[in-house]
Amino acid sequence: MNTEGLLAARMVRLKSSAIRELLKHSKMEGVISLAGGIPSSALFDFDGLRQATQQAITEQPEHAFQYGLTEGSYTLRERIAELCQERGVVAKPDDIVVTAGSQQALDLVMRAVVNPDDIFVVERPTYLAALQTLELAEANILSVGTDGDGMIVDELAELLKTRKIKGVYLVPTFGNPSGVTLSRARREQLVQLAAKHEFLIVEDDPYGELRFTDERQPTLFELSKALFGHADNIIYTSTFSKILAPGLRLGWVIMPDWLLHKVAIIKQAADLHASALSQSIAECYLGLGRLPAQIETIRAAYKKKCQILAELLERELGDVLTFEYPKGGMFLWARFREPRNCAEWMKKTLEQGVVFVPGEFFYADNPDHSTFRLSFATATEEQMHEAVARLKRAL
Ligand code: PMP
Repeated sequence: MNTEGLLAARMVRLKSSAIRELLKHSKMEGVISLAGGIPSSALFDFDGLRQATQQAITEQPEHAFQYGLTEGSYTLRERIAELCQERGVVAKPDDIVVTAGSQQALDLVMRAVVNPDDIFVVERPTYLAALQTLELAEANILSVGTDGDGMIVDELAELLKTRKIKGVYLVPTFGNPSGVTLSRARREQLVQLAAKHEFLIVEDDPYGELRFTDERQPTLFELSKALFGHADNIIYTSTFSKILAPGLRLGWVIMPDWLLHKVAIIKQAADLHASALSQSIAECYLGLGRLPAQIETIRAAYKKKCQILAELLERELGDVLTFEYPKGGMFLWARFREPRNCAEWMKKTLEQGVVFVPGEFFYADNPDHSTFRLSFATATEEQMHEAVARLKRAL
């Protein structure tokens, strides 16, 4: 049978995640991976998760195993609202939809707001799987540069002089892959531009809680409310993946009224609602009151790992690489001082037994081939020493 033409045209544009392909290498014996964007399972609170699971299936089985509301369990949304309040994101349970990870939130939101060829602006570099949701929604993706203070909002302002855009997607705090955080001044500038030019901001915040210092930037959601008394054009999404367990596949999205009900309809079409069992477990876990201590544990561990990796890189490869010290999150973004194709270089590092993600995969356009992303979340201290020695050998 000739199957040509059976696939939708938009699928031709869609790239598979090169990172997922790469992760196959990271499973090879003896290979040290600094590639994956996965949290360290050595830090998971298995005791707490076991208790919460036990409680969910014995105390509320009719809730855990039955269909539920599309927007998500009301009790869980109440608890999420409390969590968000501590981050300065003040929302009611009715402003929240629980999703299958924040990844699904991105997909649902993009489908709800993007018409084919609408312009969506992303950072250069940006989160690869957000690009996939934009491609699926058939957006016209444009990008603006990023430096040590996050997205260069002046570049966006320049672009707005000639183009009408639908929205901006960004990870403003401890970005993936850049590791950097948008400065306070640029946050205000961005929120003001969004109000003036009436575009959406999709604020993706999976890493905001994983900070290594006491410094905390306000969310764009919070700033918009402070400046304009509303967040009618801000969509805030976050997740339990990096603070609790990604296998639960639970995230959430806070949206204005005009959008929330439309997103809920798309969610109905996609999967009716997020897993009731996962929601019950998360609900019980939050009820145990263990999350704050768990977040502290993760922060302390990642902070230490980040410091070790940064110091090793500085000492061993500082003459050929530059990078910003991350103040939180899971990633360190490095650039060769002299141009080098990191995808090519990785063939050599693989021979030495170490993988990372070449930076070029994180660009919507104009990739910088001299960049690469290292994750410090999963490797042990010993592995990091060995990994940096192997990187050096592969040069
Ligand atoms: N956004 C960003 C920036 C991420 O790094 C990730 C996970 N790698 C996600 C969203 C999706 O995470 P999840 O679906 O597990 O919540």
